[in-house]
Amino acid sequence: MNLLIMGPPGAGKGTQAEVLVKELDITHISTGDMFRNAIKEGTEMGRKAKEYMDKGELVPDEVVIGMVKDRLSQPDCKKGFLLDGFPRTVEQAGALDKTLGDLGIKLDGVVNIVVPLDKLMARLTGRRVCKGCGASYHVLFNPPENEGRCNACGGELYQRSDDNEESVGTRLRAYEEKTQPLIDYYKDKGILLNINGDQEIKKVLEDILKALRK
Ligand SMILES: [Zn+2]
Repeated sequence: MNLLIMGPPGAGKGTQAEVLVKELDITHISTGDMFRNAIKEGTEMGRKAKEYMDKGELVPDEVVIGMVKDRLSQPDCKKGFLLDGFPRTVEQAGALDKTLGDLGIKLDGVVNIVVPLDKLMARLTGRRVCKGCGASYHVLFNPPENEGRCNACGGELYQRSDDNEESVGTRLRAYEEKTQPLIDYYKDKGILLNINGDQEIKKVLEDILKALRK
C-alpha cells in the first residue's frame, strides 16, 4: 500500500506514522531523514540540495522531487511506503503525481489527521522546560511531581516563548492556510481519508486501518 500522511503540529502525526508503517509493514519515508541520507550518501540530488542549504537557501522543488524519485525507486519501497512531510504545496503534489506516474506507482490514500484547534492549542502550549537541566514536561501529558519544579534537579520550569498561545496560534494558522489547498487537491482525487486524531493512539490507528479497508 502506498500512502501519504498529513497533520498539523501537535496532531501526533509522527507517532501515527511509526505505528502505521509497523502495522502495514511498509517503508516510512520522512522527508527530513531522506534529506539527511541523500546528503550523507552524496547522491547527485543530495549534493545539489546541500549547495542550497549551505547558502541558507530553500531547496527548490525540482531538487526535492528528484530526491523523492530516487528514494521511491529503491527496493524497500516495493512493499509499499508512507510518505511523511511531502508534498507541502499543490505544486509539489502535482510534481509528485507526475513522478509517481513515471515510476508506475499508484497512491492509494492520503491519511489526514484532524484535531480540533483548541485541543492542538492545549497540546502545544502545555510544554514546560527546566531552567536547570533542560528536561521537558507537559502540564497535561507528563506533569512534574511538584508543580513548576523539575523532578530531576528541582529547577524551575518555564514556558518557552515559541510555546505561548500567540506563537502557537500563528503556527497553526500558517499550517492551515498552506495546507487547505493540498487537502482539497486530494479530496478532489477521492483519496483523502480524514481521521479523528483526538483519541487514543490505538484508536486512531484502528480508524486509519478501517478507512483504508474501504
Ligand atoms: Zn531539571
